[in-house]
Amino acid sequence: MNLILMGLPGAGKGTQAEKIIEKYQIPHISTGDMFRSAIKEGTDLGKKAKSFMDKGELVPDEVTVGIVRERLGKDDCKNGYLLDGFPRTLKQAEALEDLLAELNAPIDYVVHIDVPKEKLLDRLTGRRVCPTCGATYHVIFNPPKVAETCDHDGATLNQREDDQPETVANRIEVNLEQTQPLLDFYHEKGNLVTINGDQDINDVFEDVDKKLQTLR
Ligand code: AMP
Repeated sequence: MNLILMGLPGAGKGTQAEKIIEKYQIPHISTGDMFRSAIKEGTDLGKKAKSFMDKGELVPDEVTVGIVRERLGKDDCKNGYLLDGFPRTLKQAEALEDLLAELNAPIDYVVHIDVPKEKLLDRLTGRRVCPTCGATYHVIFNPPKVAETCDHDGATLNQREDDQPETVANRIEVNLEQTQPLLDFYHEKGNLVTINGDQDINDVFEDVDKKLQTLR
């Protein structure tokens, strides 16, 4: 199954991605995660991406398309993939079409997790991430068993630099402007599947899974 997961920041893409890759046994390709690990490792890519990410801006298309091209070419993508956070612009979507035609791995579905904009600010500023294993929590909606501590490995949870309130508002605006043309693009191609993301995590996944099973 070749999938793209879409939704504004805080719509629950990361959480649903974990569930989808487990059920469908496909690799999770998140451009945001790739940039964050490049920053952690101090690579050239990380240095390029950091200045944009810290401001809540998009990393330039040529950099982003380049890392996706490299990743989709790997062997573990031969049985499918889940793209998360990419494409974010029409230019990226067009570059992806060309790339997937080359790889003979066209998209099956674009899963859009739809959450009203006003709910996203609360969701994002309450998000916490484990610096060791990457697990995500929310102080109210999905708290860890012990406050500020990862359930899996006991590490102290962090707030992502780009989840600070002043950055979040800008990220939502930038994404809103960019998302609609992409939704229109995939709707016209007949790939778009819209899911109500304003419900319990497990109910969202149940809807995603049901839709994918019936469309398969
Ligand atoms: P995310 O974890 O998907 O919210 O991404 C975090 C940040 O990484 C974004 O705010 C951008 O600065 C950068 N980023 C991730 N994916 C892309 C993309 N497809 N195009 C440009 N920038 C991206």
